Amino acid sequence: PSRIASRILRVKPSPSSAAADRAAALRRAGKKIVNLVVGEPDFDTPRHIREAACAAIERGETRYTQNAGTPALRQAIADKLSRENALRYDPKQIVVTCGAKHAIFNALSVTVEPGDEVLIPAPYWVSYPDMVIACEGTPVVLPCAESNDFKLDAATLRAALTPRSRWLLLNSPTNPTGATYTREDLRALADVLLDFPDVLVLTDDIYEHISYTDGPLVHLGAVEPALLPRLVIVNGVSKTYAMTGWRIGYAAGPEDIIGAMETLQSQSTSNACSVSQAAALAALEGDQTFVREAVLTYRSRRDRAVERINATPGLSCRAPGGAFYLFVNCQGAIDRTTAGGRFLANDTDVVMYLLEEKGVAVIAGAAYGTPGYFRMSIATSIDVIEEGIRLMGEAFSDLR
Ligand code: PLP
Repeated sequence: PSRIASRILRVKPSPSSAAADRAAALRRAGKKIVNLVVGEPDFDTPRHIREAACAAIERGETRYTQNAGTPALRQAIADKLSRENALRYDPKQIVVTCGAKHAIFNALSVTVEPGDEVLIPAPYWVSYPDMVIACEGTPVVLPCAESNDFKLDAATLRAALTPRSRWLLLNSPTNPTGATYTREDLRALADVLLDFPDVLVLTDDIYEHISYTDGPLVHLGAVEPALLPRLVIVNGVSKTYAMTGWRIGYAAGPEDIIGAMETLQSQSTSNACSVSQAAALAALEGDQTFVREAVLTYRSRRDRAVERINATPGLSCRAPGGAFYLFVNCQGAIDRTTAGGRFLANDTDVVMYLLEEKGVAVIAGAAYGTPGYFRMSIATSIDVIEEGIRLMGEAFSDLR
């Protein structure tokens, strides 16, 4: 018998970390790797944010803060939610966490009872199902069709809801597809949710600002305020401000859930890093030029990459509405044999072939609950993206 708890034994290590590790190992072994695995901005944290962190250190903000985060940061988050999302939260309805991932994990930890069902639209962010499993819940995967831009539709949601349904996890823009829900999409989902008053809803808004649609995104809570008493909003500064290493995220929601998250945090991690909180405050309150420029850069990479992928035999993809990934359909390369005689039975074979024969690292769609695809990142230079797609073209040029 293992001495590791069974609920943890069932948790798989993150496949994106595994893919990144595999690419790094090949690179260390001297192989040239075109890395399209990255899940973080390729920019440095903006200077004014770094300077705010240095100033906080010099001011002595190097001690414990309130478990739920500094009053200044929680107020700044409340202001952000009001300004950008038209949602009113009191700072005591907000908890600052060690990244958005930690916020999601704690929200599930304080609410999921063994056997509770957590609805997860697929393609999904790799961590959701395993977080649910770690909390002894049951992930229920809801497939979302490429023809519907990989978005969850109302009928699929309704058909999946049962008396055991505890949560719906909604991520827009979505990792890995970039699927971005419109007001109408959210309205249709809200109408279903209104019929199931015990279901909690978590919106993972971490890619909110990495959006290529015209005009601001609407929030589910603003579309249907009646959902607010059971809505937990998760967001953070990682992707928007190129601050993945600083580990600051947050959750906003009803006081009982946020309060329980704060209690859990007070007995586990305590506060998120004090210096990082000062940096996050500067990010939320400071000049937003960086965000606009980063999005323009991602957007031009997206346009170029989508065009090139669609010109590559065996591959196709839709232009994502947000985030910095392409979810590439590789069904045209599956069940075929490469020029070198390698049979590609599924997306995992495709991904291993690209890595081993061409040195291109991407992540198989199976990791996101959706075989037949792979995810490639555009959070890297256009030269790397172009080179990666060129090698894909070579890889699939003579499929039999
Ligand atoms: N949610 C989604 C959909 C993500 O893709 C990621 C990071 O990859 C996170 C949350 C985690 O963000 P953080 O770095 O703030 O923990």
